Amino acid sequence: HAKRQGKNNYQQYNDNIQTITNNNLKMETLLHRALERDEFLLVYQPQIDIKTNTICGVEALVRWNSKEQGMVSPGEFITIAEETGLIVPIGEWVLKTACLQNKKWQDMGLPPMVISVNISIRQFYHSNFVEKLTTILQESKLEPRYLQLEITESIAMDAEAAVNILRTITHLGVQIAIDDFGKGYSSLNYLKQFPINHLKIDQSFVKDIYSDKGIISTIITLGHNLNLKVIAEGVEKCEQWDLLATSGCDILQGYYISKPLNREDLPAFITTYYYKPSS
Ligand code: C2E
Ligand code: MG
Ligand code: MG
Ligand code: MG
Repeated sequence: HAKRQGKNNYQQYNDNIQTITNNNLKMETLLHRALERDEFLLVYQPQIDIKTNTICGVEALVRWNSKEQGMVSPGEFITIAEETGLIVPIGEWVLKTACLQNKKWQDMGLPPMVISVNISIRQFYHSNFVEKLTTILQESKLEPRYLQLEITESIAMDAEAAVNILRTITHLGVQIAIDDFGKGYSSLNYLKQFPINHLKIDQSFVKDIYSDKGIISTIITLGHNLNLKVIAEGVEKCEQWDLLATSGCDILQGYYISKPLNREDLPAFITTYYYKPSS
């Protein structure tokens, strides 16, 4: 009886693996088709300079407007895109679209902003990455200082290679932010070596603002000592804004300021925000 039970469990385990594999294969096919059908789009979340209370940047966030499934958020497809390598063409589309859009806003007469684009580790280490980036900057005619790449601490797994790629990118004039800082594998040694401009405090610390006050002010001090500006994301409440401002944080991003907006809604938000008397 025990043996039969074991066999059943094994069978079930195999079936589960089969389901996961089938789902991944299906997802891969769907993502391929999404690229061909042009089903991806970007939304843009404003970032506020605390001192001047003006918009200094936007983060571009990808969405998949699927014919079958409706609007799909990156949490549901980025991992599979990374595993299958599809993140390379998807990420290239994101980078190109973000640069073109930012240039368009500048040409419309909006105050110049930095557009931040998330870059997956696999995309970052892809052999053509810097070449693609250079071409996109040339073709979009966006000044490189108005583009920022967001990478995570995980690129430090191969610190030597990372430093070389980062140097090439910063030589182009493009800015670099470390996203989700404090969440992953952290080493102060790479921070010192990496040519970067911004640290983004991980949302989890902002969420538990009272218990994590010490961590937040430590990250801000660390960033400032390294000549970096510090961004807090996931700001949902007035109390978080106040505490971050008191702690010396430079830039804020979160639902309290604005949810990510469609490209056609951003200009109106900026115009209203600029003329809103600061409280
Ligand atoms: P992230 O880069 O850390 O982006 C911040 C996420 O937090 C976004 O989720 C954003 O919509 C959400 N968020 C912003 N403000 C708040 C807030 O006040 N409260 C809460 N609870 N959440 C807030 P989203 O758009 O679902 O993206 C999730 C993640 O997917 C991103 O995390 C990023 O790692 C990845 N991602 C998004 N777009 C791209 C992309 O174009 N390429 C790559 N490689 N990854 C992307
Ligand atoms: Mg990000
Ligand atoms: Mg983040
Ligand atoms: Mg992230």
